Amino acid sequence: MEPISSPVEMFFFPFVGGGHQIPMIDMARMFAAHGAESIIISTPKHALSFRETILRDQQLGRRIFIEILLLPENIDIADTDMSAIPVTDTSMLQEPLKKLLLQRKPDCIVHDMFHHWAADAIGNLELDIPRIVFNGNGCFANCARENISKFKPHEKVDSKYEPFVVPGLPNRIEMTRSQLPVTRIVEDNMRKSKENCYGVVVNSFYELEPAYVEQFRKGNKAWIVGPVSLYNRNIADKAERGKKAAVDEQSILGWLDSKPPNSVLYISFGSSPRFAPQQVLELAYGLQASNQAFIWVIRDVFKGDGTWFLSEFEEKMKESEQGLIINGWAPQLLILEHGSVGGFMTHCGWNSTLEGVSCGVPMITWPISAEQFYNEKLVTDVLKIGVRVGSLDWLWWNMEPRVSVGRDMVEAAVKRLMGGGEEGGEMRKKARLIGEMAKKAVEGGGSSYVDAIALINELEDRRRINK
Ligand code: UDP
Repeated sequence: MEPISSPVEMFFFPFVGGGHQIPMIDMARMFAAHGAESIIISTPKHALSFRETILRDQQLGRRIFIEILLLPENIDIADTDMSAIPVTDTSMLQEPLKKLLLQRKPDCIVHDMFHHWAADAIGNLELDIPRIVFNGNGCFANCARENISKFKPHEKVDSKYEPFVVPGLPNRIEMTRSQLPVTRIVEDNMRKSKENCYGVVVNSFYELEPAYVEQFRKGNKAWIVGPVSLYNRNIADKAERGKKAAVDEQSILGWLDSKPPNSVLYISFGSSPRFAPQQVLELAYGLQASNQAFIWVIRDVFKGDGTWFLSEFEEKMKESEQGLIINGWAPQLLILEHGSVGGFMTHCGWNSTLEGVSCGVPMITWPISAEQFYNEKLVTDVLKIGVRVGSLDWLWWNMEPRVSVGRDMVEAAVKRLMGGGEEGGEMRKKARLIGEMAKKAVEGGGSSYVDAIALINELEDRRRINK
């Protein structure tokens, strides 16, 4: 076949900061590594968080660039705010984006579903630019959400804690109404962005959830191209992902080096956690009682009435070398892939879940919001590489946080996974195997590698036909 004169030009339009921006930057870098030209569309403020990484890729000869959308009077868009309804409004970017698309006419645009206006804005241009959607979830969560919305099994139970089976899934999955979203923000964005789209890219890999990939593909044209975090191949990229880490990575790595293999529990609840102060204290007491070595990422927003206790706790843990507390952003990938880390207590955000999976680390699941309860089911009931801490109530960011997990629940889950028992050992073995599959998926000939190349080839074919 005749080669095209220049690489396909793929636009990536991530959401603003946080857990949605991070995987899309990795994805743009992955497509550039596979020979496409990736253009990341951002604003001055948000581009700062990934500029250095992109410069490093350019030095490697990759065709990857940042295109800045400017707003009048130097206004910029705030960071992702999940308590805003419906999340941070980015519609101010509509006009500059349209102008850019008219000028450049790329071979496709991949946009985050939270730019809820993008479907109409791009469609109305009548430019025939394939619009590909990224919703940040895996196939299991997408299938479970779709089936619950279609069959409404939660309307047939009498109380919010009475379990129901999610119909039409390859595995028997039980959930309760208390674990389901009480807002339709995500559903509405997803539906809107998927209308008339060309397809969907998913950060997952076939071998992780084959039956769910197949099911998802029945209703969606989808490329499964992850785990994209595995495209961070050097220390600088891993340490600066999303934000500059609040700790020097060498001191964290040194601390981890001093611990035996699989002995440390890493605890983090994502990019924008929100716990009641009393809940933070329960977690601290539970950890203390478990005697478990740990690294715990506490963001500033965690602090409240019990600050004095936490300061004392932090000091005590540091002295005894039982635990390290990171106040701020952690270099999560570096920590998770360290051989001394043997467990991950996570809120089951999809990126964190996949990162745990990719690093072969079993989990303690503590879902809070978004689609995290679905991800918990995948980890515990399907993959069987995690234990539940026992959180039961879905909470959106604008709802008052409550204490839902007591110290005894924390202690029990930590001991179950990390205490040296057979169950934890089995989970660790399984997690390691799945981690190896993840790495194979993104290597030459692997399922995600092949899917990414298939999308590039399809865009090349379109260019030839439309020439
Ligand atoms: N993350 C990080 N350091 C932190 C907190 C989060 O690097 O201190 C990264 C993490 O590796 C993941 C992302 O932020 O890639 C969080 O995404 P996830 O989907 O897990 O959760 P969300 O923040 O969207 O709830």
